Amino acid sequence: MRIGILQLWQETNTLNPLPTTRRDFETLGLYRGDEIIEHLSATNEPGGFIQSLRAWPERPEIVGLVRLPAWPSGRATADTFAWLKQEILDSFDRAGPLDGVLFALHGALAADEHPDVEGEMLAAVRQRIGTKTPLVATFDLHANLTKLKVASADALVGFHTAPHIDVLETGVRGAKVLRRILVDGARPTTALVKLPLVVPAERANTQDSTSVSYEFRRRLEALERRPEVLTAALATVQPWLDVAELGTAVIVTTDGDRELAEREAKGLAADVWARRRDYLPELVPAAEAVRRANACVDGLVVLSDAADATTSGAPGDSTWCLRELLKYAWPRGGALVTLVAPEIVAQATRLGVGATLAGPLGGVRDAKNSTPVDVAAVVERVFAAKFVLSGHLGVNLPIDMGQAAVLRVGDVRIVCTERSGPHFAPELFRAAGLDPFAAQVLVAKSPCGFRAVYSERAALIINVQAPGCAPADFQNYPYEHRPRPLWPWEDCEWRA
Ligand SMILES: [Zn+2]
Repeated sequence: MRIGILQLWQETNTLNPLPTTRRDFETLGLYRGDEIIEHLSATNEPGGFIQSLRAWPERPEIVGLVRLPAWPSGRATADTFAWLKQEILDSFDRAGPLDGVLFALHGALAADEHPDVEGEMLAAVRQRIGTKTPLVATFDLHANLTKLKVASADALVGFHTAPHIDVLETGVRGAKVLRRILVDGARPTTALVKLPLVVPAERANTQDSTSVSYEFRRRLEALERRPEVLTAALATVQPWLDVAELGTAVIVTTDGDRELAEREAKGLAADVWARRRDYLPELVPAAEAVRRANACVDGLVVLSDAADATTSGAPGDSTWCLRELLKYAWPRGGALVTLVAPEIVAQATRLGVGATLAGPLGGVRDAKNSTPVDVAAVVERVFAAKFVLSGHLGVNLPIDMGQAAVLRVGDVRIVCTERSGPHFAPELFRAAGLDPFAAQVLVAKSPCGFRAVYSERAALIINVQAPGCAPADFQNYPYEHRPRPLWPWEDCEWRA
């Protein structure tokens, strides 16, 4: 028995003007063939696939196909789409005949002229392997599920958690579904219910028992414990995706019981719709958020600057919080903020530690939503932003954000990196020689994922409202292609 595994991963943010290119996929960790098994057996969905397959009594041969990851950013170019498709098809040519395929996807990858990249890739794989070879794909909770995706795979298995702490486990669940089809002879039938609904990520915390998402996660887990259900998921989609099929989805796959799949999917979708207002967060404008942080007398304050969340595909060099932080003294541990700023890192490296870097900072990658701020900063450290991430987004995941520098202005430390990445991660601050939990205030460029590690340790968390490419109030931004009506842009009546 030969099982092929592959991964295509990127979350596209169509409000971000920076295009995603082939080079972005090559930089983050492109692997072909056996390299996948060598490098990924302990991390994320591929690790879940590999560990599960190794435990099957049939001892299947694990065939590495290709892994194509890029950090969340703007739309991929049409050339990049063509190259990705060729890489995937070539990997099947190299592999030879397969008995089953496990495909790890994000689910919200869009390219110029191709709004549903993963739908097209699944369809291409299906065409290549034929209808008799089972194809099971995994997807992120913020995936945009489409009819093409559902029609092209035997089953789609999604994360249950946000912050995403079940990434490897989702790989394990995907392999389990493949086994039920391939070995036990299950006949998957899937109900997909799309809702005219997009919700912000801030309050969709599946680990917080007061959140509506907690309740829905428990329901999905209970559904998956039923022997007739192969898999069930709620994909609340990431909101910054201006495509015609944008919308939240519920998906339930059963072993041949169409009626059950539809009943459960519709029931859950109706409840998500009824609870939609529970997802709306309280947002505090940047100036007021920083003022409140400064007034907090004890412990760490985390400012969630979701609009510039690099995990949501924003450019990561917004200066809205930085500008406000520079107005105050932070005598109890200082202030920490990050920027994606390759030119600044190069300049700091050239100048060297102890030198003063004077000039404009940030606000260049997305000139529409943010402007540079003038500083005279001391270069405090130059380092390699290389670490292993465990927590939101994965476990044992190697991250390389390139060269980096710590700049200091008064009590404010600005961690600048050459490339985008998980700018909320404590591992990044530690690589910079800083203790994130000893700071007085820290800006986490993340809407919800940062909570996995900061919730327990922060005295106060504030959801900042600032302009950017990944705002929580996305309904105030122009979208051209999205369906209408779509809540919260329009209110409407809806029934599953
Ligand atoms: Zn996600």
